[in-house]
Amino acid sequence: GRLPREELVAQLMQDAYDRYAGVDDGAVADYIPALAAADPALFGLSIVSVTGASHSVGDALHEFSIQSVSKAFVFALVCDALGPEAVLRQVGVNNTGLPFNSVMALELNGGSPMNPLVNAGALATTSLVPGATAQDKWTFVQTGLSAFAGRPLSLDDDVYASEAAHNRRNQAIARLLESYGRIAHDPLETTDVYTRQCSLLVSATDLAVMGATLADGGVNPVTGERVVDPSVCRYVLAALATSGLYERSGEWLFSIGLPGKSGVSGGIVTVAPGKGSLSTFSPRLDAAGNSVRGGLATRYLSGALGLNLFASR
Ligand code: GLN
Repeated sequence: GRLPREELVAQLMQDAYDRYAGVDDGAVADYIPALAAADPALFGLSIVSVTGASHSVGDALHEFSIQSVSKAFVFALVCDALGPEAVLRQVGVNNTGLPFNSVMALELNGGSPMNPLVNAGALATTSLVPGATAQDKWTFVQTGLSAFAGRPLSLDDDVYASEAAHNRRNQAIARLLESYGRIAHDPLETTDVYTRQCSLLVSATDLAVMGATLADGGVNPVTGERVVDPSVCRYVLAALATSGLYERSGEWLFSIGLPGKSGVSGGIVTVAPGKGSLSTFSPRLDAAGNSVRGGLATRYLSGALGLNLFASR
């Protein structure tokens, strides 16, 4: 099946916006000044079907740094380039049960980064990106994420500078990975490429196109470009289901029944395989770093649009 007819989708999207626009629970990320300055009132929703049809409500065109949502798409590009077995072996696909920037998770698991959707695993994944130099890897990442979005994505220079000045913890995680022989490129250069990938500017609408490309077996439904192999999408969506919302991934799957990926700037992309993608943007986060209104709106729409993968009808 496909998404419901466009008039119904439009009405339910507006319902979701109206229901949750007034919620002000949670707090904007404040670990760097550039994110702490985000307007907490911003709220945007976007849906893109595998047919290319789209609908948006609220601040869906507002640009923000992609942050951890990038991890899903860099993982897809690396799976496509190296094959899923190599990534399974070197990164893993099990949940850590710990926060996204946990050092303890690495220590408790013998240096395994566990999965590509926490910082340790994302750093390991970025180190595997094709290219001999950091510049080659960055070009590959920026080109690949732009192909997912169907337009050239550019860096938020303020966010990048702010992150680069405050990334000692990620550098430490990369060094620790190195000590365990679990990073495939220079750790500080890898951290810099990772910091850049997190600083790419996207809108909720971009995220929905990116998610719809995963829903559509790797073909961007807006541009028609094949970005990754169909099998890659299955692997990526399975990894998102286990770990896309960090240590809250179980609760997310329990109430929403779809793979998703969040980031600390307030974006969430959710994928309905074979149907399309819903994305949300709202900067206030819960304690795990997931957008509060994004989770509420996604739960509502997954139910109302009949998208839960575990529903028998
Ligand atoms: N740039 C952030 C970091 O590495 C991204 C984390 C996130 O979105 N959860 O800490």
